[in-house]
Amino acid sequence: MKFASEFRDPALAKGLLSAIAGQVDKIGASMDQPILIMEICGGHTHSIFRYGLDKLIHPAVSFVHGPGCPVCVLPMARVDEAVALAERPEVIFCTFGDALRVPGHRKSLMQARAAGADVRIVYSPLDALELARCAPTREVVFFGLGFETTTPSTALSVQQAAREGLTNFSIFCNHITVPEPIKVLLDDTDMRLDGFIGPGHVSMVIGVHPYDFIARDYAKPIVVAGFEPTDLLQAALMVLTQIAEGRAEVENQYSRVVPEHGNPVSLAAMADVYERRPSFEWRGLGEIDASGLRLRDRYRAFDAEEKFAVGYGAGAKPRVVPEAEGCACGAVMTGRIKPTACPQFGKGCTPDMPLGALMVSSEGACAAYWHYGGARPVPAG
Ligand code: SF4
Repeated sequence: MKFASEFRDPALAKGLLSAIAGQVDKIGASMDQPILIMEICGGHTHSIFRYGLDKLIHPAVSFVHGPGCPVCVLPMARVDEAVALAERPEVIFCTFGDALRVPGHRKSLMQARAAGADVRIVYSPLDALELARCAPTREVVFFGLGFETTTPSTALSVQQAAREGLTNFSIFCNHITVPEPIKVLLDDTDMRLDGFIGPGHVSMVIGVHPYDFIARDYAKPIVVAGFEPTDLLQAALMVLTQIAEGRAEVENQYSRVVPEHGNPVSLAAMADVYERRPSFEWRGLGEIDASGLRLRDRYRAFDAEEKFAVGYGAGAKPRVVPEAEGCACGAVMTGRIKPTACPQFGKGCTPDMPLGALMVSSEGACAAYWHYGGARPVPAG
């Protein structure tokens, strides 16, 4: 296949749906005891809802939405620290757009900007690097945020800044990794999950083998998948086929993009620039060992936490900030409840007045339900 439209072909989708129904029959699943497939990535959640796959798929298959939205899992204390950095008069704070409206305890970055902070939306850390070159009297801080997909570009910008000897560029590093929280979910005896769909863009960087433990140690199938509707249906079919055949393997549906062993250039840049933090706090999941990255000592001059003594940096004390009252973000992010089961959904929490990040992030499950799920309340009158 060559064009995106071919991955949205209704006839192909129909064939996949019928094959899925065949595997469900073989497994003997029912609506009372559905097969639970967690799509780890928020991008997949949005594709599922945008194309109505949750309604088209056999009713005995249920998609469970996972913690794969980096903006959503950022604890409120880190949002507060980003705002505090942005409010420093010498700082130009650069961020991707979807972090702008995430509520902090005091305010969001957008509210900080409205109050005078110099917050700028960039499309790449290289844009922030260029700003640092153009504004040598200012401190340019880039909000490094994301899973293994965005982690390499931040690493490359740090390497470039080091080569140029820039002294006014730093990273507020919140890069995190996908496999560790999946292990936490699998170790939770309250969770029942039958299989996983893995994020294709993450595996473009890390390959498929970091997920081997899911099949080997927990006997669950996982299929790394692309983001088009037929990608997701084919991935669901592959998971169901494994279950029907009593197999648990790591399979690659997205082989047109994902190399088995990842991208060596990206992996080398990451290994050069980052080391793992002993632990990192995730919203809804708590502290997870070795799940966060920080800059290595040789790049310490580019670490905003060290430079400005915030977060885990020198002399700073990491704070734990409670979530907003009544917010069920943690339960939604770990697949325990659907967004519409949150008491705040559509009442105290809407995209215009968000209570949690899941309602405003482009990969947030609540945003997916709001925009595509038909869950938006109909105005009275
Ligand atoms: S509706 Fe709002 S408060 Fe509830 S889980 Fe979603 S983002 Fe959090």
